[in-house]
Amino acid sequence: MKVITFGGIITSLRLPDRDGKPDDVIVGVDQLADFETRSPYFGAIIGRYGNRIANSRFTLEGKAYTLAANDGVHSLHGGAIGFNKRVWEAKPVQGDHKVSLELSYFSPDGEEGYPGNLPVKALYTLTDDNELVVDYTATTDKTTVLNMTHHAYFNLAGTGSGTVEHEILTIYANQFSVTGAGLIPTGEIAPVADTPLDFRAPKKIGADLRTAHPQMVEGRGYDHNFVLNRADDGSLTLAASVYDPVSGRTLDVLTTEPCIQLYTGNFLNGTLPGKYGKLIRQGDGLCLEPQHFPNSPNQPGVPSTLLRPGETYRWTSVYRFGVR
Ligand code: BGC
Repeated sequence: MKVITFGGIITSLRLPDRDGKPDDVIVGVDQLADFETRSPYFGAIIGRYGNRIANSRFTLEGKAYTLAANDGVHSLHGGAIGFNKRVWEAKPVQGDHKVSLELSYFSPDGEEGYPGNLPVKALYTLTDDNELVVDYTATTDKTTVLNMTHHAYFNLAGTGSGTVEHEILTIYANQFSVTGAGLIPTGEIAPVADTPLDFRAPKKIGADLRTAHPQMVEGRGYDHNFVLNRADDGSLTLAASVYDPVSGRTLDVLTTEPCIQLYTGNFLNGTLPGKYGKLIRQGDGLCLEPQHFPNSPNQPGVPSTLLRPGETYRWTSVYRFGVR
């Protein structure tokens, strides 16, 4: 695995296929300038707030906060200069049967409109069990909201090999957040049953991708937040599985988070030169982003993303790789 301090971005991860042939499964660009100016969050740490906050506004303890609008009128993935565009301090950590890279960043009070001084740590760990473990921790000195995620785009057949539509996906979720205009959730939590969003049993990503269901039209494909079938206890739970029948590579995503965003790279339009001299086109990568409900500070009745002084924010996701 290769990581850069800019955005804590994972720039490459090489994995053997079923015959032992290694390939880079991380989709992205290879020029720092592209990461700085026109990367759709390739491989990056996302904060302070993953997904969208409607109208770039929320109220906390009676006080209104205005955020940087960077997605029309809405705030996406932390605002104009999110954690994906900050330079993190890196420190290698050697463990037993594992090796880690600890990344640290200090987000000052008011950054992108969010309250509280927020020291954040991200720990990338590779284990002997073929896992990439990502741990985030943070504290604050003022009550704030925090909803981090990770934005790796995977292509298990190898980046540059084309679309991920033939890969087989399972998402352990019976429900999803219905999205409306601007990909803002309407507040309705709907069953996935009888919709293209039903991934409860393994299904080709491309199987229903072109169904003109209103939700698919809204997202130009899959760009949806699934409510995981899980205990509400913050334990590490299996959220999604991917299998690439061509290479045999498998990926299981486990997380402590209540939801996962599935994004099929719908806005990748072939204008970005990617790694290995290949253009990045729609559907060439798949994001599975463990996180809270989108827009949760403005959404009554969903789990809280509040972080108060004295508390420690913890987020863990495990990307477990294998071959079949
Ligand atoms: C969002 C998409 C957005 C993309 C940015 C994803 O996490 O769900 O709506 O376009 O990030 O590249």
